[in-house]
Order: sequence, then C-alpha cells, then structure tokens
Amino acid sequence: MSEGLSIGFLELTGCSTCLENVLLHEKLSGILGGLGSVKYWPSHGYTEEPDSLDVLFVSGAVRSRGQVEKLKKLRDKTRVLVAYGTCSIYGGLIGLTALIDASSRSGEFLETVKTVPDIVEPDILVTGCPPTRDQLDELAGVIKDYLENGKPRGKVFIGNRNSLCRDCPRKPRDPYRFEMPSIKRDHELVEDDGRCFLEQGILCLGPVTSSGCGHLCILRGRPCMGCNGPARGVVDQGLNYISSIGSILLKSMERIRMFDYFAAEMDKLVDPMGYLYRYTLPKSLLTELALKKRGVGEK
Ligand code: SF4
Ligand code: SF4
Repeated sequence: MSEGLSIGFLELTGCSTCLENVLLHEKLSGILGGLGSVKYWPSHGYTEEPDSLDVLFVSGAVRSRGQVEKLKKLRDKTRVLVAYGTCSIYGGLIGLTALIDASSRSGEFLETVKTVPDIVEPDILVTGCPPTRDQLDELAGVIKDYLENGKPRGKVFIGNRNSLCRDCPRKPRDPYRFEMPSIKRDHELVEDDGRCFLEQGILCLGPVTSSGCGHLCILRGRPCMGCNGPARGVVDQGLNYISSIGSILLKSMERIRMFDYFAAEMDKLVDPMGYLYRYTLPKSLLTELALKKRGVGEK
C-alpha cells in the first residue's frame, strides 16, 4: 500500500475473521491500497495509535470498559468509521451472553454486551457473519465516494434490508393459504420438498432477517438462523418472529384452544433464546427489560 490516507482496523470481542475479508476483497483492498496504508491494527503488529485515521473498520461486540474508552478515543480521530460485521452492530454470537449476570466477573467487564452504535456513531454499517462479496462491492463504492466527495448526510447501511422471504427461491404452495403444520426439528423432516421451510414445519428466520446475504443458507438447503441481522422494520428479531409464526401456526388451529396449542408448540424450541436471538440478543427488548429489573442502568 502506498502512503496517503491512513487506514485502521480494530478488533473488539468476536472471532474477527470478517476483518480479514476486507483485505481479501480485491476491489476494496485495491481502493484502500491505492489511497493509503494500514496505520493501526493492533493484532497485526500496528500497535501505535496514530494522531488521525481516515477510515477505521471495527469488528466485534463491546465487552469491557477498556474497549469503550478505546472506541470513543478512536472515533474522535477518525473520519469514516465502519461498524463491520453483525457482532459490531447487533452483538452477534457474543451477544448471547448479554443476559448473564456479570457481577461475579472482574470490574473491567461491562454489565452486559454493548454494540458499536451503543457507544459511538458509525458512518457506515455493514452486517453479515461475515459480510458477503456483494456487500463488500457496495462498501468499496461507498468508501471511495466518501473519500473523494466528502461525507454524505446520515448513516449508510450496506446491503439489502428487505426480508429474506421477499425474494426467496422457496415458495409456499399457495401464498393465500399459507399455514405451518406444527413445529418440527430438522431431523424430523423426512423429505424436503423444496417448499418454504415454514410450510414444512421447519423454523426459518427469513421473515425477520435482512437479505443482504443473498440467501446463502437457503440455496444450500438450510433454514436461515438470522446472521445478517433484522430486516427493515423489525424492532426485535425474536419477538417479531414469534408474532409472525404465531399467525401462520394458529390459522389452522383457530377453533381449538389456540393459545394452549401455541404454547405447546413453542415449548418444542429446545433453546429459545439461542434460536430466536442467536445474533441479536443485546438489542432485544427482553434484554432491556431484564437489565432494568436487575437494576442495571445501561442497556
Ligand atoms: S421462511 Fe425461509 S424458506 Fe420460507 S420464504 Fe422465508 S426465507 Fe424462504
Ligand atoms: S440465510 Fe440467514 S443464516 Fe444464512 S447467511 Fe443468510 S442471513 Fe445468515
């Protein structure tokens, strides 16, 4: 990379492999390499904090007070801050610890899991675990534009935020009579007939998940687990999901004790929090309520 703009990478808590993707993406690394050089990336030996950064990619969730301070300090000296990957925006898998009482841990730990936008204002947000090539193509264009023409108004969200169901290659047999028979676990599906997973009784988080991933799992015969984060308009991935499958599960059972039936179906979920909030627990309304009840001021 030539001298010029200064580029930084900051890994918070997460696997952080998504950051490596930035450099593996020819177009993005070409733009960054053409315009500047890496000045800060502690885990790769660039430990000295520069006076200013033009672009900073931040991956991972925020778990410690030290990370909060570091993030705030770097925000103040960065032109374009990119919250990169699902963990940085929604907590990701690390977020599953949001409800664990942290009082027995060292004082350095936060009471719960935070996300980058909880602490500082990012300029660009890129979801995905990891973000896809299409998202990186879009990101490359946005960063180039930023650096050449200045900051646009407002935050930029990279990727398609429509729900996965909207363009899903799996279709229900009759969209006007869409019903879910009952909830099955994956191994109980004897033969996948190619219809929508929900119509076959298999839980798929497509209705509440944004489709920037390009249906990666669906195209490989697997239901969605929600790794790309909530679709536009989804406030709480788990609660919105329960509400949407409630309507199709109950349709065929309206005449018989529907709430008992629904509760019994939901009991089939072996790990409800892990299933409904695998990637977004820190942003859940349930987390907010639980923390309030525990007297923890910050969400
Ligand atoms: S629920 Fe899943 S399989 Fe069904 S349409 Fe949505 S994304 Fe496709
Ligand atoms: S289909 Fe769902 S779980 Fe799979 S990559 Fe896309 S958003 Fe993630």
